[in-house]
Amino acid sequence: MIQASGLRKLYGRTVALDGVDLHVRQGEIYGVLGQSGAGKSTLLRCVNLLERPSEGTVTVAGQDLTALGDRDLNKARQRIGMIHQHFALLSSRTVAGNVAFPLEVMGVPRAERERRVAELLDLVGLGGRGGDRPAQLSGGQKQRVGIARALAGNPSVLLSDEATSALDPATTASILDLLKRLNTELGLTILLITHEMNVVKAVCDSVAIMADGRVEESGTLAELIRTP
Ligand code: ADP
Ligand code: ADP
Repeated sequence: MIQASGLRKLYGRTVALDGVDLHVRQGEIYGVLGQSGAGKSTLLRCVNLLERPSEGTVTVAGQDLTALGDRDLNKARQRIGMIHQHFALLSSRTVAGNVAFPLEVMGVPRAERERRVAELLDLVGLGGRGGDRPAQLSGGQKQRVGIARALAGNPSVLLSDEATSALDPATTASILDLLKRLNTELGLTILLITHEMNVVKAVCDSVAIMADGRVEESGTLAELIRTP
C-alpha cells in the first residue's frame, strides 16, 4: 500500500534520510520507531510529499506520488489522512467546522458535508460535540477531532505523527484502541511514527527501527522481538 524506495532527503548539509526503503502492506499498522533526530518525521512528510525527497520514489495505493505534478498530487493527498502530535486544529472553528474543513476544500456540497461530519464524529465517539470549540475539549477529544478530520476524504492510508506523545497513558491507550478499531473495521492502513516502544507493542503489526536517517531493522513485531 505504501512503497518507499531509496529515499534520501538533505537539508543543506544535514542528511535527514540516507537511503530509506519501506514497504507497508494493505491493512496493517506499521510503526517507525526511533529517537529524536532519527529522521522519522522527515520520512512521514516524504510519504505524502509534504516534503519532496531529494532522491527516491514513493508509491501509495499503486500511484507514484513523486511523478505527479502539484494538481494531481493535491488530489492524491486527499486519500492520505494525517494526524499530528499537537492536533493542529483551527481554534476559531467549531469541532464540526474542523472536520468539515477538508470537505469544503474538496467542494462537497453543504448537506452532504453535514451528514458526513455527523457520521465522522459518531465514528470517533464525539457525536453531539460538533458545536463545541477545540478549547473546550480534553487532549484525547482533540485528537479524536484530528482523526475524524483525517478520515473526511475517506483515505486508504492514515499517517500518524507522534499522535499520542502529548497524551497521558490512559488517554494514549484509548486513542490507540480507536486507531486499532479503524484499522480492523475500515481496513485502514496506518503508518505511525513514535519514539515509544509501548505504542509499537500495543498496536503495530510491523515495525522499522530508524537511526541516523536509516532503517536499521525491520520486520514483523514478532520477528523483531525474537531478535536478541
Ligand atoms: P525525528 O522525527 O526522528 O525526530 P526529523 O525527521 O525531525 O527526526 O529530523 C531528522 C534530521 O533532519 C535532524 O537532524 C533534523 O535536525 C533535520 N531536519 C529535519 N527537518 C529539517 C528542516 N526543515 N530543516 C533543516 N533540518 C531539518
Ligand atoms: P465554524 O464556526 O466552525 O466556522 P460553521 O457553522 O461556519 O462553523 O460551519 C463550518 C462547517 O461545519 C460547515 O461546512 C458546516 O457545513 C459544518 N457544520 C457546522 N455545524 C455542523 C454540525 N452540527 N454538524 C455537521 N456539520 C456542521
